[in-house]
Amino acid sequence: MGTTQEQEAQPQPHVLIFPFPVQGHVNSMLKLAELLCNAGLLVTFLNSDYNHNRLLRLETTDLHARFTRWPGFRFETITDGLPDDHPRSGEYLNDIFDSIKMITKPLFRKMLVSLRRSSDIRPPVTCIIADGIMTFAIDVAEELEIPIISFRTISACSFWAYFCIPKLIEAGELPFKGDEDMDGQITCVPGMESFLRRRDLPSFCRAKDLDDPTLQVVITETQKATRASALILNTFEELEGPILSQIRSHYPNIYTIGPLLALLKCRLSYSSPSISSSLWEEDKSCMSWLDSQPLKSVLYVSFGSLAVVTRDELLEFWYGLVNSRQRFLWAIRPDSIAEKEGNGQIPLELVEGTKERGFMVGWAPQEDVLVHSSVGGFLTHSGWNSTLESVFAGVPMICWPYFADQQTNSRFVSEVWKLGIDMKDRCDRRTVENMVKELMEERREEFMKSADQMAKLARRIEVLFSEQLT
Ligand code: UDP
Repeated sequence: MGTTQEQEAQPQPHVLIFPFPVQGHVNSMLKLAELLCNAGLLVTFLNSDYNHNRLLRLETTDLHARFTRWPGFRFETITDGLPDDHPRSGEYLNDIFDSIKMITKPLFRKMLVSLRRSSDIRPPVTCIIADGIMTFAIDVAEELEIPIISFRTISACSFWAYFCIPKLIEAGELPFKGDEDMDGQITCVPGMESFLRRRDLPSFCRAKDLDDPTLQVVITETQKATRASALILNTFEELEGPILSQIRSHYPNIYTIGPLLALLKCRLSYSSPSISSSLWEEDKSCMSWLDSQPLKSVLYVSFGSLAVVTRDELLEFWYGLVNSRQRFLWAIRPDSIAEKEGNGQIPLELVEGTKERGFMVGWAPQEDVLVHSSVGGFLTHSGWNSTLESVFAGVPMICWPYFADQQTNSRFVSEVWKLGIDMKDRCDRRTVENMVKELMEERREEFMKSADQMAKLARRIEVLFSEQLT
């Protein structure tokens, strides 16, 4: 411990948090920002101009209410380099990635330098927590000699699968030749040998050519992230312990701080209202509809913020849901239907035909929906935030992964955690109907039991914290 004078000379800790500008990443990194503010740190959250303007325009996303309670918090904004009318959905993630690297990186450097020099009442940034898929931030931080931590917003299991891609290539398991059985076992991902199939590898592994730009970006970004001082993962030991041990053998400094949702709820106490950071207007009318449904009777359906489905897929899901005769609440983002088919509109027959036992919204207050007592299942694309929200709520899942980490998450949901069914690579109406019945009726007890047990473990973080307080 130094002298009081030395302590006074230390700059006040000031963390700059820089997420990749899409909903899932912003959601989890904002939660971390709140937790750090709650611990008394100064936090600057760097939002893209585009996302920030969207947040400010929405009525249900009350940024002011969420952040005025933290005097140490403030937003800064920076361009993502794309024009405002760019679609920014999952089909165009490479555009966001390229433009951030080309256009945002030099501006980010300039911003850090000016924050250092400015006569602002805030002290300079003493630590950066950057999204683990934006490793250019590590280059900038190293140059300016600012400590940097990577935050990977995906699961440990998918991070580990990404990490092992070079090994898979070396072993000749990648690229797929085209005639392999997609159910064939993958043997080169330590810790997953007994259950990982080709179809469960991250979606980038389906690229026919090793020069595929997305595959190459994933390989380099994953390896380069190890240059940061530490890695933060939004997960917990009881969920992913064995895989975390594998990662630690390459990357010892890991902080598992998840589910952030549980930790934040615990710190802020359950009585505080949850304030959303949704980039779409939340349609809260579904909450009163849920209030009028029987206990655990509703299947919530949502494919997150980036997935795009074809009109045919949408109709297959709809027929499957209706034929299952279960109640459902379906969040369909206005921009989630492939544009070339039906101008991106939700088919009218689908909206009309849903009324008997279903309810549709454009964007739901998902965290609140999942903990509602009427919800008994979740048909999800297996995005990591959605998966953790479902784990926290104790809601079993049917998984229909769209891309990236989701193919691996969904395999873990079904084979390792036994929290649901993996519908991967299929969505014909018969399969949808059968799986919905399986989850909501035939194997309901079994899934509810394991979901309940896992939810208790996810919430243990709160117990540990309250024990510290007493
Ligand atoms: N979400 C929401 N309302 C919706 C759909 C999604 O609030 O109607 C939120 C959801 O709670 C989650 C995030 O959007 O926090 C989606 O992140 P995830 O990692 O699950 O998937 P991604 O959108 O990145 O594919």
